[in-house]
Amino acid sequence: MSMAEPTPDGRFGEFGGRFLPEALVPACLELESAFRSAWADPGFRAELDGLLRDYAGRPSPLTEAANLSERLGVRVLLKRDELNHTGSHKINNVLGQALLCRRMGKRRLVAETGAGQHGVATATAAALFGFECMVYMGEVDVERQAHNVFRMTLLGAEVRPVSSGARTLKDAVNEAMRDWVSSVTTTHFCLGSVMGPHPYPWMVRELQRVIGDEARRQCAELLDGGVPDAVVACVGGGSNAAGIFAGFVDTSARLVGVQPAGGAAIGRGLPGVVHGSKSMLLQDEHGQVSEAQSISAGLDYPGVGPEHAHLAAGGRAEYPSVVDAEVLEAFRLLSRTEGIIPALEPAHALAWVVREAGRDLPRGSTVVVNLCGRGDKDVAQVMALTHRS
Ligand SMILES: *Cc1c(COP(=O)(O)O)cnc(C)c1O
Repeated sequence: MSMAEPTPDGRFGEFGGRFLPEALVPACLELESAFRSAWADPGFRAELDGLLRDYAGRPSPLTEAANLSERLGVRVLLKRDELNHTGSHKINNVLGQALLCRRMGKRRLVAETGAGQHGVATATAAALFGFECMVYMGEVDVERQAHNVFRMTLLGAEVRPVSSGARTLKDAVNEAMRDWVSSVTTTHFCLGSVMGPHPYPWMVRELQRVIGDEARRQCAELLDGGVPDAVVACVGGGSNAAGIFAGFVDTSARLVGVQPAGGAAIGRGLPGVVHGSKSMLLQDEHGQVSEAQSISAGLDYPGVGPEHAHLAAGGRAEYPSVVDAEVLEAFRLLSRTEGIIPALEPAHALAWVVREAGRDLPRGSTVVVNLCGRGDKDVAQVMALTHRS
């Protein structure tokens, strides 16, 4: 299997597509054609590469985690995307979409956010480009993530609390889409992961593949032209995983997307349509979307990007899950052994490596872990959990 373009109607196998109200179809078609022409335009690519280098701080290093490797008996290489400006991989996608917004002659970004990381990244790009910015966020998340709400405000964005549904990420996506319907001539919807209607899953994966392309080159150098035995990333919507997988899908490396046990759409979900595309989705017995549950707000999404559903169905990638206690243990272990405090999201990827070292991941294997976010945002939460136990 490859990670090629989807079919003309945006499908990856039986997943993906474009399930939308009539009013949004022209906007998606406009976006698809704008992205296609931009992506083929060396001028656009050079400008994006320049921003990624000089503003976001790419390329991110591939760090040999020698202490952790010795402890586990497997060789762990960390792709350090937590060193990017704003602290995660989100900025890679957002800078690309901001450039695209300007190219389409629009001057306003709307975005959804759950934990607030994508909202902060979007507000950052809006400040840089001089765009207006509106971020939709469920009321529950506004309360839980007050710190990020204030960051967005500092950056000049307006944060609009969403009071419908469960008042979390799923509802924020709906509201952002509603805004887009009514403002499409001036506004670009800056979606934060490889989900939603075509072209988003494809476009966001292409904007994140810089992670995988860099890691592939860095591995070739470090491993004498070789590739790792496994490439491991956490999966919420699936953008950081899709980005790093894209660099290795044509190799012998195992691709492992680690889900939170309470949000394992691949495994515990069923096929269904949400937010404009078909994928695997957590649902109750009536087919209603159910809420995901995890220690990390950034992985609380009941669905998963359609291309991951496709890679899972074809057996090219695996999607195990880990429980919160394993995640906390991995969070502490990396901090202690390597002096790197990871975000709770990539701590899921690490937790799988820690659990499976010497088991599903044989001793002596080489594994690349996508360290897609830094832990600063999670320290207070882990502190509270530590004091409680
Ligand atoms: C948002 C976020 C995620 C989840 O999003 P994906 O699209 O699955 O990558 C994971 N890690 C971090 C650090 C995030 O900020």
